[in-house]
Amino acid sequence: MIEGSYFNQMLDCGTYYNEWVQHALSYLPEAMLAEHKDGLVFISTAQRDGCRMARGYCDTREVILLSERILPKHGAEEGQPEVRYFIYVVLHEVAHAIISRCDGIAPLEAVVADLCSSFPGGG
Ligand SMILES: [Zn+2]
Repeated sequence: MIEGSYFNQMLDCGTYYNEWVQHALSYLPEAMLAEHKDGLVFISTAQRDGCRMARGYCDTREVILLSERILPKHGAEEGQPEVRYFIYVVLHEVAHAIISRCDGIAPLEAVVADLCSSFPGGG
């Protein structure tokens, strides 16, 4: 696990799910996470029925919305295919966010384009 209070500001998926997002983010290169953490926020519908994206929120950060259906269930373990898929989705959306913030990073774009075509239901 990565330590640091900045996770409090970037994770808003519900306590249990925040830990899983934090775990997924631990797969990113440390320098990449350090550079972009202030520009990302994760939300989910796990513990809310609806929400409104305040305009100011989106001005300064990429808001990544995680579908409830992919969140790891209670008692889930990393080795399970559905948990691997959840980690993939988190990293995939982070890659999209970083690309859009940086006006294109060619090697990362190629990787993401490949991933997008190999998984249904993403984007
Ligand atoms: Zn994609």
